[in-house]
Amino acid sequence: MLDDYISREELWACTSCNACVEACPVSIDPLSIILDMRRYLVMEQSAAPSELNVMMSNIENNGAPWPFNQMDRLNWNEEN
Ligand code: SF4
Repeated sequence: MLDDYISREELWACTSCNACVEACPVSIDPLSIILDMRRYLVMEQSAAPSELNVMMSNIENNGAPWPFNQMDRLNWNEEN
């Protein structure tokens, strides 16, 4: 299905709003299929978008999606 019927751009464009699941008249769960395809790209092919890779690296290294060290989190409090 991937790359034949749904492009990678379309796959990552989903906001996981769940509207398609609620509107489906035959109770298909398209969102779970989308998430499985994303999971396959990330886990099996290491083909996540670069922005997502940066965010995951930041979570792994800093415990948050931002590129700042955990020890610097409260620095904003000392700026004034
Ligand atoms: S969850 Fe369904 S309706 Fe919502 S953005 Fe993704 S594909 Fe579209």
